[in-house]
Amino acid sequence: MDMLSNLDCEATGAPGVLTIDLAALRRNYRRIAEMVAPARAAAVVKADAYGLGARTVAPVLYGEGCRDFFVAQYGEATSLRPSLPQDATLYVLNGLQPGVEADCAGRDIVPVLNSLEQIGRWRSVAQLASRRLPALLQFDTGMSRLGMAAEEAEALATDPALLNGIDVRAIMSHLACADDVEDPHNAAQEQSMLRFEDMFPGVPVSFANSGGAFLGPNYRGALVRPGIALYGARPTDLPVRPMERVMTIEAAVVQTRIVPAGTAVGYAATHVTEGERRLATLALGYADGVLRSLSNRGAFYFDGIRLPILGRVSMDSTIIDISDLPAGTLKLGSLVEWIGPQQSIEDVAEDAGTIPYEILTSIGHRTLRRYR
Ligand SMILES: *Cc1c(COP(=O)(O)O)cnc(C)c1O
Repeated sequence: MDMLSNLDCEATGAPGVLTIDLAALRRNYRRIAEMVAPARAAAVVKADAYGLGARTVAPVLYGEGCRDFFVAQYGEATSLRPSLPQDATLYVLNGLQPGVEADCAGRDIVPVLNSLEQIGRWRSVAQLASRRLPALLQFDTGMSRLGMAAEEAEALATDPALLNGIDVRAIMSHLACADDVEDPHNAAQEQSMLRFEDMFPGVPVSFANSGGAFLGPNYRGALVRPGIALYGARPTDLPVRPMERVMTIEAAVVQTRIVPAGTAVGYAATHVTEGERRLATLALGYADGVLRSLSNRGAFYFDGIRLPILGRVSMDSTIIDISDLPAGTLKLGSLVEWIGPQQSIEDVAEDAGTIPYEILTSIGHRTLRRYR
């Protein structure tokens, strides 16, 4: 693969290269969209599309027919709005923050309303503007994170004037355990959601994230909200065909050396060599997303050979053992794979004691991004 070539002109001088396969992203979207039809597939592009670049990712998904885009924060919506055509809808999951109401209405950004107080402010803006304003209403079905409780839903259902001027596009909720198909919490949340649906007859429902989409039609409603599956990580513990890998990340070699037995490696000398070793120092560290919990645990790969991380991961660099490669294989500027065809993001996340979401969203801004 040319991604792994030793002399990569475009990457010259870069500490690392993040390669994003937009064709694979498209195919992942299409696969989810086909699976959930007749429900519509939105795309969750919060946190800069999980670190892959929302301003590139969102228009590509628009090209595949996606018209609904979810971000978490208002600032994410305003910065993404110019990258999307007018018929794309942008939703803000974290709710309607005080002070942004008029701007939000003016930019046609759709807030997810998470409380009666937020509904009240949106209703006032609608009255002032003398037009109906779109919103989603979020209810809490068992996560205690965002959204209204059953009593607040009752209040809305018994006094529809509370929603005057608000065009409720859908009611929504979020699953806490969707990646675990066996977890009884999923069915409990589904039952809770059915009670909210009864209070808002005929209003479309948005319920499932990536994992939820695989739990089956009961969880899909009218609008599914996949994030991680689009970006190629495993969305569920079901034995389904995995999503296509979208990202590859490689690190550049900045120094190699041979050290004798008994040599201390890295901060705090947490590794001491047992025999003569060949080491390489890579230009990515924890500031670039190589989590410090990978110290003395994770690995990089080259030509199918596992190259273990030795010692502590530093802020800007990581030391690996390259003794299993033929001498001279790696030179200054050579790229070694961290995540890609040789090592999955799931394996890296497990080594780091975390989840693929955190690995993706931790990739720093010093890494060169390439789209193909
Ligand atoms: C992040 C998020 C999603 C997407 O979740 P994935 O597991 O990445 O598919 C969907 N809905 C809400 C409310 C979210 O916060």
